[in-house]
Amino acid sequence: MDSQPKLRVLFSRQEIAATVSRLATEISQDYHDKYPLLISILKGSFMFLADLIRHLDFPLEVDFIGLASYGKGRHTSGKIKVVQSLRSPIKDREVLVIEDIVDTGLTTAFCLDYLRQKKPASLKLCVLTDKPSRRQVPVTIDYLGFTVPNKFLVGYGLDWDEKFRNLPDICFIEDED
Ligand code: 5GP
Repeated sequence: MDSQPKLRVLFSRQEIAATVSRLATEISQDYHDKYPLLISILKGSFMFLADLIRHLDFPLEVDFIGLASYGKGRHTSGKIKVVQSLRSPIKDREVLVIEDIVDTGLTTAFCLDYLRQKKPASLKLCVLTDKPSRRQVPVTIDYLGFTVPNKFLVGYGLDWDEKFRNLPDICFIEDED
């Protein structure tokens, strides 16, 4: 069996809950009368989406898109493809993309370009964690939870080789000596 990495908590479940609530307030102000479509990028943002929408008490719809980039390693290949398509037409919809983490920006930039081609009425981005030190392409984040250091994060939906998504806190993997 693989040796398990050492994990340290970066953001506790209480800090995450407060941040999700703050984001929901911002989103509510802008979208309460817009009947938006929230598009969650799988798999990492499912937990964030689930917590976020419980704070949104206005009509909305949810859809999911699956993108693949990382494979099993820690670094992006830079090649991104759609592995699970949207169910909903997004033409003329007010679309808000829900993303777990922006690292190099390649995945999010690809996703926004892909969605923009389908001619939504508007397209904005809500991101739980942003790692700006690693950016390769610019990405405009409209609603941001946390800015994070250049560490590999797991928990609260984020995985390491498909593991640790179920951790309620956001943790980082300590570098091995
Ligand atoms: P980007 O294309 O911005 O480099 O990376 C976006 C995707 O890479 C994220 O959706 C996520 O799947 C993965 N990723 C980037 N940084 C991390 C990280 O620190 N932890 C985990 N678990 N995934 C990451």
